[in-house]
Amino acid sequence: IPDVKRKSFGVFGLGLSGIATCEALVASGAQVYSFDENRDARDKTADTEYRCEHPKNWPWKDLEAIVISPGIPLTHPKPHAIVRKAQQENVPIVGDTELFARAINALEPQARPRVVGVTGSNGKSTTTALIGHILKQAGEDVYVGGNIGEAVLSLPAFDSDAVYVLELSSFQLDLTHSMRLDVAVFLNLSPDHIDRHGSVDGYLAAKRRIFLNQTAADLAVVGVDDDYGQSVCTQLMASNNADVRLVSSGSALGRGVYALDDKLYFNLDGKTAVAGALTGARSLRGSHNYQNVAAAIAVCERFGVAPSLAIKSSQRFEGLPHRLEEVGRNGKVLFINDSKATNADATARALSAFEDIFWIAGGKAKDGGVESLKPMMNRVRTVYLIGDAAPQFEDQLHGSVQIVTCGNLEKAVLAASADAAKSDASAPVVLMSPAGASYDQFKNFEARGDAFRDLVSELSVGNGEAA
Ligand code: ADP
Repeated sequence: IPDVKRKSFGVFGLGLSGIATCEALVASGAQVYSFDENRDARDKTADTEYRCEHPKNWPWKDLEAIVISPGIPLTHPKPHAIVRKAQQENVPIVGDTELFARAINALEPQARPRVVGVTGSNGKSTTTALIGHILKQAGEDVYVGGNIGEAVLSLPAFDSDAVYVLELSSFQLDLTHSMRLDVAVFLNLSPDHIDRHGSVDGYLAAKRRIFLNQTAADLAVVGVDDDYGQSVCTQLMASNNADVRLVSSGSALGRGVYALDDKLYFNLDGKTAVAGALTGARSLRGSHNYQNVAAAIAVCERFGVAPSLAIKSSQRFEGLPHRLEEVGRNGKVLFINDSKATNADATARALSAFEDIFWIAGGKAKDGGVESLKPMMNRVRTVYLIGDAAPQFEDQLHGSVQIVTCGNLEKAVLAASADAAKSDASAPVVLMSPAGASYDQFKNFEARGDAFRDLVSELSVGNGEAA
């Protein structure tokens, strides 16, 4: 990291990205003061050069900047104490991605690696991983990180021949000022994700920062399936900076990559051609994934990968765990782990991807519960309810589908798999897509998905079949 030698930095939050930040700063000669509200995290720094020190003892007057974890709210509902303190003391707040950007910007142009950034309310991880996969298959050296997998500052340092593919959340973008992305992807924006930005405008402004500093040599890929994406696109075209490629899953476009009736089309030079069909891509089920695939095609074409080849690679994409993940088969029954679906919107996408569903749902309900899913109950044979949300979900779904209250996941898996096996459906699916958060019964959605996977493998083993 350039220009940090003998300068002082505060690092607040010692998760993976915080530790990677401390190490990168120390390795670059900076003096680092670190802190985490969690004692275990603090204990891990005992023998390091970035020993923990309470922020009230940091030398605020000497601090060049503080680096905070992306999870710490800047504005809403009220700024965190560390943010207020930094503002009072006039110390800039940045994220790890900003330090990464400064390091890249300091390289000679010919030594600069190519960097792709992906943002959006939904589909960031899938699209980021898919771009990484396609480019790797095409023979590129690729590093994937950011909000997914490894922290940016723990990726191998600045391999000039490589492509860095980074998932960037709106929080990370808020704390990044100097990044210039060779390819910036804005997938979509859904106002229910306003979270800590306080307003749709704040949230959109943060996401739009992905295009900051782009020049005419760069590429902007914009999903235009929602109004926000369309307005971003109009503004970008008017500002005449980067080259703009549109992406849609459902509407034909004059210029860009789009999906219609299960086929992907591209028009990048005035002529429209079919790139191929996605049938058979088991880890990219559901129409929402067409947006992710279309975006990945648009990005990879920029690096010389033909759209038809990108589709072939997509078919071999393994997918990410807990997102419509196929975890086993027992006789004719297919088991799908969609533990990441913590709200009704995400579950709606899962339900639309299958028929003859034996659906496991519940957990900690979000606002609105599953009321919006009632019209989709024609795809569902039986619902198996677990966790705190069971009574509410039962009320909301009453009369539209058969309901079994199971209490816990184990009972639900046993009941659903038995019912699916003896049903008259030729290809029944046991789908765990809870439409609720996990923390009433599990540590996080990953633990819930892992528990489901284990239960399914026990079932399959019990029947003498490999999962
Ligand atoms: P993120 O990293 O943005 O949270 P993921 O790729 O992890 O996104 O996908 C999370 C969930 O969001 C998926 O399980 C699916 O329900 C939904 N999803 C994925 N891609 C899209 C998309 N392009 N549009 C809408 N929803 C999507």
